[in-house]
Amino acid sequence: MSHRNSAVRALLGSLLVTVALPAIADSNDDRLRRDDLQLAEIASRIAIASAPRCQNLMPATGLVIIAIDQYPPELRKKFGLVTPVEIEAVVPGLAADRAGLRAGDRLLAIGDKVLAFLPLAPAASSATRDRVERQIIVLPPRAPITVQVNRAGRTVSAVLEPVAACRTRFEVVETDKLIARSDGETIQLSSAYIESFGEDAVAVAFAHELAHLVLQHGLKANKQTEREADRLSLHLLALAGYDPQIALRFWREHGASLGSRGHDSVKKRISLLEAEIAAMGAVR
Ligand SMILES: [Zn+2]
Repeated sequence: MSHRNSAVRALLGSLLVTVALPAIADSNDDRLRRDDLQLAEIASRIAIASAPRCQNLMPATGLVIIAIDQYPPELRKKFGLVTPVEIEAVVPGLAADRAGLRAGDRLLAIGDKVLAFLPLAPAASSATRDRVERQIIVLPPRAPITVQVNRAGRTVSAVLEPVAACRTRFEVVETDKLIARSDGETIQLSSAYIESFGEDAVAVAFAHELAHLVLQHGLKANKQTEREADRLSLHLLALAGYDPQIALRFWREHGASLGSRGHDSVKKRISLLEAEIAAMGAVR
């Protein structure tokens, strides 16, 4: 069981430091780090491939970050009191990785935003992390981003050369419930979903939620918007190099146990997916 928290809300301050700081993400969090990275890899791949379909873009940096205040106050001291945001992982092949940034680097600044000495949330909260992520996703999608990190006491500068992706935040919610949802800004998948179903299912769920976003459904969800998202999700999967059949396989395998609240029946959903895949094949 981890002490990390995924609530939402934030604040910001500033200053720079150069002292050696212990890593925030410790070995107890290996499982969550794996989940975070897996979601980031799949989400980045689909969001980048879908960019031509999106009105709002962001720079895909491949940065996966974590903040000290995702832990309760009594567990924060060992991480040091400064530079509260750390690179938890980098998506292989994306800008942060190519610029040489790595897990454990403590973020001092991104562009002109100084991240050292951010005020911390009083209770465990993802507020600081979310705030920093929101600053990143509104940066110009293809412009270089200068990043400064503290690595074992040294300040290291790197210039990220991002590619454009559909603008969305994505995060792992740590729970044993099977969750895949979006509030119109952030796409959330639960650790249970990722760990139970694996890569293809993560891609299927992410593509569906991203399709809602591309179609600007906001929070309105009805059978019609769900059908539209299901259809478009197949095209987004194909753009990202996935076989759209993975959506069909997912619903055939897990539909009965997951049910289809707010959607058509699982059976109807599967026939819609089949019809769309057949139509896509006919076009090719
Ligand atoms: Zn939906």
